[in-house]
Amino acid sequence: MSHDIYINNPEGLFKALEKELSDPNKLVAIQIAPAVRVSIGEEFGYPPGTDLTKKTVGLLKALGFDHVVDTPLGADINMYEEAYEILHALERNDESYFPVFNSCCIGWRLYCSRTHEKICRHISPIASPHMITGSIINYYLGKKLNKPPKDIVSVSVMPCTLKKYETLEQFPDGNRYVDYVLTTHELAEFAKKKGLDLKSIPEGEFSSILPDSSKDGVIFGVTGGLVEALLTTMAHILDVEKEDETFFRNDKTIKERQVKLGKHTLNVITVYGAANFEKVFKQIQEGKKFHFVEVMNCPYGCVGGPGQPLPVNTKKLEARAAGLRKAADKKRTLATVPQENPTLQTLYKELLGRPGSKTAHELLYFHKVKL
Ligand code: SF4
Repeated sequence: MSHDIYINNPEGLFKALEKELSDPNKLVAIQIAPAVRVSIGEEFGYPPGTDLTKKTVGLLKALGFDHVVDTPLGADINMYEEAYEILHALERNDESYFPVFNSCCIGWRLYCSRTHEKICRHISPIASPHMITGSIINYYLGKKLNKPPKDIVSVSVMPCTLKKYETLEQFPDGNRYVDYVLTTHELAEFAKKKGLDLKSIPEGEFSSILPDSSKDGVIFGVTGGLVEALLTTMAHILDVEKEDETFFRNDKTIKERQVKLGKHTLNVITVYGAANFEKVFKQIQEGKKFHFVEVMNCPYGCVGGPGQPLPVNTKKLEARAAGLRKAADKKRTLATVPQENPTLQTLYKELLGRPGSKTAHELLYFHKVKL
């Protein structure tokens, strides 16, 4: 079935959303990516890096969305599954499983499939946080509210124009993880068209059915965040110390370190930008062994995504990156790692069972990897 992804067609996208929002039979749920909260303010006169999570939720409620879910919940689930996949491969000494590359960056996935097809099989089989959150909206939130997936509209606000391509991916039953993607800039335009200003909007709360996410889920939106989340999650599962948790937080284009986790020593590297990735790829071709490679297409990760407010410069990117790390650290009082997230715990108890279960494979893993 043809599906319009509304690239460079904001008016068409707004019309389609207005139609969905006015349909009384539809449940329209929307998710917010981590990077959006520290950049949307730029469209309304706030300094870059201001954490406007609750204001953004309020804005989406004012636009008529029924439930607002935080994409970091999907990041928590992604990381929980990934940590177990990697630990199982380490336990069985499966060297052929490594290196593992992240699946969360659609720009990287598209680049890899067109330039390095042979290594694409090393991209994690676990769907991106964006798609996982869409899946949970369709198959958990819907069930709780007695709505079949055909009556659920799953929307997202992403810092990334390329995330629109993820709306092409489907479950075997024909449902989509996500139906529509609005970029950060498009959300601001949509709101302004309706006469809404973030400054005067009251704060809102995430869906009471899917309310929580952890520090690890939020930090995904900035370079090095995914690796920090992975190593923290694994250390927590193994019940071992991990030295210098914040090592990957600096904004260098390439960062590499050997990390000791109990009896395992992992070679980990993070990189952003295709040209920088080619330097890492050269090392891999020359025989360098990595366990995990985090690749982000954009400068500083998703905070520098192509759907973010323009114009952009290094100072703004640094402010967004610092703002997101600060927003993540605010979460430490609640849940630092995914497995401490109460919503994740409920989802595994009521729907998913355990990491790597049959249901987890059906709902959280890719069904069609090649784009
Ligand atoms: S790093 Fe850039 S291309 Fe990759 S998912 Fe984030 S915004 Fe999109």
